[in-house]
Amino acid sequence: MSTPIVQGWCPGAHRPMMSGDGLVVRVRPRLARLYAAQALGLCDLADRFGNGSIDLTNRANLQLRGVEECDHQPLLTELAALNLLDAEPGIEVRRNILVTPLYQAGDLTACLTRELIDRLAELPALPAKFGFAIDTGPVRLLTTDSADIRLETDADGLILRADGCETGRRVTKTDAIDHVIALARWFAKTYTPEARRMAAVVDALSQEWQGYPPGPVGAKLQPGPCELGALYGAAFGSLPARKLYDLIDDSGATALRVTPWRLILLEGGAAIPAPEFVTDSTDPLMTTDACPGAPFCPQAQVETRDIARALAPQVSGRLHVSGCAKGCARMGLADITLVGDNGRFDLVKQGRAGDEPCQRGLDPETLMTMDFT
Ligand code: SF4
Repeated sequence: MSTPIVQGWCPGAHRPMMSGDGLVVRVRPRLARLYAAQALGLCDLADRFGNGSIDLTNRANLQLRGVEECDHQPLLTELAALNLLDAEPGIEVRRNILVTPLYQAGDLTACLTRELIDRLAELPALPAKFGFAIDTGPVRLLTTDSADIRLETDADGLILRADGCETGRRVTKTDAIDHVIALARWFAKTYTPEARRMAAVVDALSQEWQGYPPGPVGAKLQPGPCELGALYGAAFGSLPARKLYDLIDDSGATALRVTPWRLILLEGGAAIPAPEFVTDSTDPLMTTDACPGAPFCPQAQVETRDIARALAPQVSGRLHVSGCAKGCARMGLADITLVGDNGRFDLVKQGRAGDEPCQRGLDPETLMTMDFT
């Protein structure tokens, strides 16, 4: 098996990443939300500068792929005109904030997120993947999503929790972001090249940051109508730009919210037929992960998404098809993981893409005849 290259940084708009099909240009929506006009504009940009689709990432970011290097600067100009670009590249890198998606305008979640965004310059230098979760709805929704510092609630108010600790520190709306910054500064002084995430260093955290368990975890969101509008799924996190444009238009949505779970929320939008999107919570594509694979990623050893789509109904549980052992599409366990290696697939059961396979060298035809239930 070839050893995947770990980049150690995430692409942004100012600092795109070169992939097999051109630049990957990532947009980080503030408060996980774009006004309809911004979302429609981004769809146009994906058509004009990219490959016609928009990736929804597991950090609830949006990225255009297939951008030519000569188009990068014109694209940045257009993103700035849509107010989707941080003026400062350094601020873009720090704005690694997950937001629970069902917040209301002006509520606690919105206020805390805005304050954190406004005060990003006060943060110390942090490792590239270091992130924050504002999970302050009535129930927690971001517990399985990667974050190093978490703001959460319990019945009595707000809790600031270092990832890896069972409990956190009681804070108030007024001082919450002060404490977030203080904890980030503690981490910046504590982490090592080998331990670059909060969970790896929390053993050294003093008791003043612990003691209050956060409130209950909520049910996973599913495609369909919701209080704020309608949720639609995106198979493999891929949003076809022209179809998304039409969906926003036809549903009457006033804004688009993004989630880390391959779901978009059309704020004020109706649940309407949308064959290019997942509208049924039982659709096996909602439990199937596949990275872009070949020819889009230079490290890919196989094409991934066609075989994932074909195998999805045959797998009970979670299916992960990975172009190589890096496993970008899913870091966690899957019931069935297929890992590309030199044009064929290795099979891992109840594991991750980098784990030892139980079978090697399977071709797509053989996979289609196998029983994964
Ligand atoms: S897992 Fe997929 S996207 Fe990630 S490096 Fe490998 S082939 Fe590329």
